[in-house]
Amino acid sequence: MSQQMLTTTLAPAPIENFVNGAHVATADWDSTGLLNTDKFIPVQSPYSGETISYCPISKKVDVDLAVAAAQEAFQSWGNKTMKDRAQIMIRFHQLVIKHRDELADLIVLEHGKTKTEALAEIDKGNETVEYAISLPQLTQGKIADVSRGITCQDAKRPLGVVASIVPFNFPFMVPMWTLPLVIGLGNTLVLKPSEKVPLTMNRVAALIREAGFPAGVVNIVHGAADTASLLTAHPDVKAVTFVGTSHVAELIHKKGRASNKRVLALGGAKNHLVAYPDCKLEMTAQDIVNSFTGCTGQRCMAASVLLTIGPQPQLIHEIVARAKLLGFSQEAGAGKMGPVIDAASVKRINAYVTESEWQGAEILLDGRSAAAPPGAEGGFWCGPSIVLHKKKSDKMLREEVFGPALSILEVATKEEAIAFENANPYGNAACIYTNDPWTADWFTKNFSAGMLGVNIGVPVPREPFSFGGINRSRFGDSDITGEGAINFFTWTKKVTTKWAVPVEANWMS
Ligand code: NAD
Repeated sequence: MSQQMLTTTLAPAPIENFVNGAHVATADWDSTGLLNTDKFIPVQSPYSGETISYCPISKKVDVDLAVAAAQEAFQSWGNKTMKDRAQIMIRFHQLVIKHRDELADLIVLEHGKTKTEALAEIDKGNETVEYAISLPQLTQGKIADVSRGITCQDAKRPLGVVASIVPFNFPFMVPMWTLPLVIGLGNTLVLKPSEKVPLTMNRVAALIREAGFPAGVVNIVHGAADTASLLTAHPDVKAVTFVGTSHVAELIHKKGRASNKRVLALGGAKNHLVAYPDCKLEMTAQDIVNSFTGCTGQRCMAASVLLTIGPQPQLIHEIVARAKLLGFSQEAGAGKMGPVIDAASVKRINAYVTESEWQGAEILLDGRSAAAPPGAEGGFWCGPSIVLHKKKSDKMLREEVFGPALSILEVATKEEAIAFENANPYGNAACIYTNDPWTADWFTKNFSAGMLGVNIGVPVPREPFSFGGINRSRFGDSDITGEGAINFFTWTKKVTTKWAVPVEANWMS
């Protein structure tokens, strides 16, 4: 479906929360109140800037209702067998495949990605559902004879109600980092989507019901910062996951830990790529362009800083030449880039480039003045920028930009590259481009980031490996997917059992 069709067929109607298996209006909903900024937030199409829907702002009464529904559902859901839960998960997995195209269209509409990127997001999100389907095989636990007639066993038990607060940049995939594992392990969920992209999960809610998950197992409350804070503080919420900027991740982590909840809060990123002089030129150049412009640079795994060891003019020339070929479009296919999420993002990204220019950096490719596609002038367009820095102190080299902008800095040695990467407070991803295994090994041992690539600029670990960075990219002690997450979303209880032994025997014999 084209962007044009989507914006005209969807009337700007408000969406509703999903509580206890049904869509419900927020308590203070009123049909005339759409422009009341205390009740609704307009959802804008990044392509055109048009208002395509309204996101309700859930207040305490709405959050209480959702948590109560989740708490009630937990009583029987938590007692089902892992196998019974996995059976429903299989149906959900199939429904996501069946509605893949429709869900991707919603992502294109509200987020601004290209159709190809949106489809890839659906598939990637459904991989975590596949992993959750295997939970009966993954959660066996240990059992051992610890003494005569005595066994000790560990058992994974669900925590209760889990709250998940998610960002705008993957409207389906990031909710799927938590939803399948949380409920597959017997917990119930209250999810708060980003107020910028609430439509995709609103549609997924209906698929949750159709799959046969009992009412209250998954609940969705919409809103912004205040709604997220209410959820984090709710006394019946046992664990909170958050994904978003580091500043908010730190706040949520502190707030949740203060009431002894389990909290895992993933934050922002500043990802470094290092080009060693022996790297494969064309492959490296294309990979770097894909990494910093894919999803219009709005990925926590996106390339942000390229450190060249020594001068590498040919590589830089190739990167600039390939980035120049990109055109604005949301249609399926390669070589296309959609808009960024909102006007504030355009302003922020351009400001980083301008500030670097003031500091004497050379602007090799300038996305600031890129023209919007005809008919989409009201949208949030930002072309690819490539900046060759002269000063290590440039803000753009240190802070998260979160857009299609690449900083390049030349360093003299591999030690200088590592010192620069290690000094950055974030720790999400890093990558080395080289043709030499020993160089690759040295870098993967010395990078400070948590997810590392060798000749791959977006090194996302697939299940059973766990997704998660370190330092200011993560507040909390676990990863959000894979094996780490299974422990995070369960208590490991230990059961010691003694059965009577024959009377002639005693523990000494
Ligand atoms: P954001 O921090 O603005 O918002 C994330 C969520 O938190 C939203 O649901 C929002 O409503 C809520 N929120 C915002 N302010 C809040 C506050 N003061 N208190 C409580 N809740 C609040 O992030 P965003 O702009 O939606 O997403 C982009 C950010 O997410 C980038 O920094 C990106 O790197 C990061 N991100 C990180 C990962 C990761 O795995 N580390 C993955 C995806 C995105």
